[in-house]
Amino acid sequence: MSEDLFQDQIPLMRPWLGEEEVEAVADVIRSGWIAQGPRVAEFEAAVGQFLGVPHCVATNSATSATHLCLRLHEIGPQDRVVVPSSTCMATVNSIHLCGAEPVFVDIDRDTFNLSVEGTERALKAGATAILTVDQIGLPCDMGSLITLAERYGVPLVEDAATAFAASYKGKRLGSLGPLTIFSFHPRKMITTGEGGMLTTFDETLAEKARTLRSAGASVSDLVRHKAKGTIVQQYFDYGHNYRMTDLQGALGLVQLGKVEAILSERTEQARRYDQALQGMDEVAPPFVPDYATPAYSSYLISLRGKLEGQRDRLLQHMSEQAVSCRSAIQPAHLEPFYQGRYQGLRLENTAWVAANTMFLPIFPGMSPEQQERVITVLQQGVLELASG
Ligand SMILES: *Cc1c(COP(=O)(O)O)cnc(C)c1O
Repeated sequence: MSEDLFQDQIPLMRPWLGEEEVEAVADVIRSGWIAQGPRVAEFEAAVGQFLGVPHCVATNSATSATHLCLRLHEIGPQDRVVVPSSTCMATVNSIHLCGAEPVFVDIDRDTFNLSVEGTERALKAGATAILTVDQIGLPCDMGSLITLAERYGVPLVEDAATAFAASYKGKRLGSLGPLTIFSFHPRKMITTGEGGMLTTFDETLAEKARTLRSAGASVSDLVRHKAKGTIVQQYFDYGHNYRMTDLQGALGLVQLGKVEAILSERTEQARRYDQALQGMDEVAPPFVPDYATPAYSSYLISLRGKLEGQRDRLLQHMSEQAVSCRSAIQPAHLEPFYQGRYQGLRLENTAWVAANTMFLPIFPGMSPEQQERVITVLQQGVLELASG
């Protein structure tokens, strides 16, 4: 990536791409097979190995992977699906793609992930499924949610789009049991440009997902190609084109080889921020519960005390000092699309997070000097706003 694009600006994030990725994609082009084929299959197997889950199904986005998960659970217009409002719109879109109704539930005050108590209240009130999110790289309370889903007999899907390589009680997300999805958009832990992945322990569900991914065809293009036209495919269901290309699969394989290094660099940067924030009463680091080892795909700070309500002014200050930060996740239920439908809904913690949190730059390749500058500029801003 060209350096002069950024000059002295410290970006919020930047993917880690190099010559190895260029070569891998060039090899695929030279091979003549660029659509979904052997590289995607290899990428799926490698991700399964890394996460500790037998079946992985690659897709062209996390949104499509989530839609597939909901279809595998036969979610339809009859369903009401619990989902945090504090999430990427893509999460909620997948519920609409099934014709189901989102039931927006508040987040936990500390973790900013789906509230287990709120989820139980929604289930008691008739919700029929749970779509939980591991927001900003932090695993949600999966143990409690799995127990809840079993107790109420409802399907549970885990949107771990931002949290590839994060762990819950020492196990990688994607290997905890429920259908789980990841994103490989450049903003996430590793990237394939665009892309997603569904993981499961259930071979039948994995096969169904492969069918739905590819127009509902009973036989994949690769299998048909190898059989030299002697296999006739059939359609037992309607499907989609949610396929990942081999160009992306090859990119993903290289990126996966770097994931441990990416994770440790991000974790190291988070530690440095954590330490720096210890001296600032008005700024809290992300809360990390005992069960979670986060991926730190983002670093979200919370503004307290005198800084409460001053987030946009602090963002302005950071921007003036050439440090790219970003405002918090905005509640999905307050978007114009939902106006009218959820008018009476009050989600206290969701609203608080939307108003009083912001993202600091964190990405592999950010130098210690750059991070020092972020911290210094932040300290200055906090000092000015707290005394002003
Ligand atoms: C990024 C993101 C998505 C969407 O991922 P795509 O690959 O762009 O479809 C879904 N859910 C969450 C929580 C995300 O952060």
